[in-house]
Amino acid sequence: MSTLLEVSGVSVTFDGFRAINNLSFQIGSAEMRAIIGPNGAGKTTFMDIVTGKTRPDEGRVIWGEKSVNLLKMSEAKIAQAGIGRKFQRPTVFEDQSVFDNLLMAIKKDRAPLPVLFYKPAKPDVERVHELAAEIGLTDELQRKSGELSHGQKQWLEIGMLLAQEPRLLLVDEPAAGMTLAEREHTTDILVEAAKTRAVVVVEHDMEFVRRLDCKVTVLHEGSVLAEGNLDHVTKNQDVIDVYLGR
Ligand code: ADP
Ligand code: MG
Repeated sequence: MSTLLEVSGVSVTFDGFRAINNLSFQIGSAEMRAIIGPNGAGKTTFMDIVTGKTRPDEGRVIWGEKSVNLLKMSEAKIAQAGIGRKFQRPTVFEDQSVFDNLLMAIKKDRAPLPVLFYKPAKPDVERVHELAAEIGLTDELQRKSGELSHGQKQWLEIGMLLAQEPRLLLVDEPAAGMTLAEREHTTDILVEAAKTRAVVVVEHDMEFVRRLDCKVTVLHEGSVLAEGNLDHVTKNQDVIDVYLGR
């Protein structure tokens, strides 16, 4: 599997505190990866670095076949290069239907007004239906997004990210606040998405991580503490000491 993203020797210091410490991490082009680790381990900061929100003091972040240096790119350029990030709070337009939210995401025009006067072209309508099927919201297409359940809003948000066809999708703690059934459906969506792109999921819920059935990276104090399948890392004494045993 070819490498899509390579982080090497990255460090970030906030007011003298080393949040990321000589971190090296690689992800393949159609790989699912879970990141676990205690609070403050640097999981969110890792995503901030990859998306250009936080600039490291040292190290390299290399992207794609052309080995582009992401550290030289703006957040907007990084997003255009194919890195999508799902934040915990959904940013769907609550007054708009599920259909219109997905359509706007396809059009990459996030302003709600133009789409009200826009008659969608057939390929766009088909794409919206395809995305709705991927996230399990086909029956909700005409509903106002504000009426959706917490889980459904999260799926819509994922659908809106998939509409941009990212090559890497970063998802930070998707299971938070979801029912078991919602968590299971979220795993299905992410597993499906990872068949055609890289997906990196930060999650504390071990059952969720188990269902992702993928390589797991354990972060601690800004570095990789252990890596491997879930059974392998959960047997690691260091991982038990700093994370699981607490
Ligand atoms: P995690 O997501 O693994 O819980 P974070 O990446 O959010 O951890 O944080 C790692 C450490 O860096 C924490 O100690 C946090 O307080 C600190 N930190 C993160 N972002 C900032 C920031 N912008 N300014 C100062 N400290 C920060
Ligand atoms: Mg975090």
